[in-house]
Amino acid sequence: MRISLVFLGTGAPDAGLDDMPATALRVGSSLLLLDSGEGVQHKLVKVGLGLNKVDAVLLTHLHSDHVIGLVPLVQTRTLMFKSAKSLSVLGPPGVRRFLDECFSSLHFDPGGAVEVQELGGGEEVKLGEVVARTEPLDHTVVTLGYSISVGAGFSLCYLTDTRPVLREDLRCSVLIHDSTFSWVDLDKAIEFKHSTALEAGALASKLGARLLFLYHVSSRYRDREFLESEARRFHFNTYAATKYMHVYLST
Ligand SMILES: [Zn+2]
Repeated sequence: MRISLVFLGTGAPDAGLDDMPATALRVGSSLLLLDSGEGVQHKLVKVGLGLNKVDAVLLTHLHSDHVIGLVPLVQTRTLMFKSAKSLSVLGPPGVRRFLDECFSSLHFDPGGAVEVQELGGGEEVKLGEVVARTEPLDHTVVTLGYSISVGAGFSLCYLTDTRPVLREDLRCSVLIHDSTFSWVDLDKAIEFKHSTALEAGALASKLGARLLFLYHVSSRYRDREFLESEARRFHFNTYAATKYMHVYLST
């Protein structure tokens, strides 16, 4: 089955870069959105993925850089595509209240356009050909990672924002991991509950991932190759994700 990724935003918050976390995962005819940072609706259109094609949005946590783009996405989609099927939104407790309060304050009624499922860790949800399992992460607020399986042969883990969490039963062919900091700023990674690129590389190696993408990178590192070389000490097949990077994972 054809599987591909389009990174729509790969950075940590920075007002000037328009690079808030959001990643489109295409599996056959299904389209999942992993997080929904600011500006995501414009970026979906820019890369040719229509708003009405998104089947589900998987949110990690309620920090604004991961969720704030969902509100205009739902509003535009509802107004433009009245017949669009309802959008599944998965996320930790609090997502329903966040959306309800936003829409209520904005005097907008999405009707049945959104179906929210609030999840704890270790829960599985089937989305078409995909099974998404939630992975509890270690961040400053309740945060879920997702391990996304397609059949028996492919799995993608989306683990951000978090300190490195090693779960022995986790299987990842492809790992997208928080790499907010360099190892030289490990103290900040620990303080703010993020990971370093070095830690992401070490985890990818332990999990047996064939491909690692560094993600949620702080804008203090203008040269992302520096972080790639750091992670490659443990995991050679590592790339710093960049906005609009398109990756084919299976044909
Ligand atoms: Zn966060």
